[in-house]
Amino acid sequence: MLNNDCLFCKIIKGEIPSAKVYEDDMMLVFKDIEPKAKVHLLAVPKTHFALLSEAGEEGGKYLAHIFAKIPDVARENGCENGYRLVINQGTDAGQTVRHLHVHILGGQPLEW
Ligand SMILES: [Zn+2]
Repeated sequence: MLNNDCLFCKIIKGEIPSAKVYEDDMMLVFKDIEPKAKVHLLAVPKTHFALLSEAGEEGGKYLAHIFAKIPDVARENGCENGYRLVINQGTDAGQTVRHLHVHILGGQPLEW
């Protein structure tokens, strides 16, 4: 289920443009508009939930699919030498969009 008031749901529906690098029936991957590394992609499930605590079994299926696809997507987009995955959860983590997303960071050596 998508949410009409959610930025990432609007991107999934094509109502807001994005720089897509991969898409299938369960996930979308696009470039972050404020990249924090040479390669900075966002992988989002095509169902709306904000937090892992809201995912449940159904959301978990989407997450399993996303994590199965990320290695190929990362490699094909300039992360041959490695990459970092980040999932911010809630206010203290600085989660700005309340639709769960996996940051894929790479294309360069990353510092902590
Ligand atoms: Zn959403």
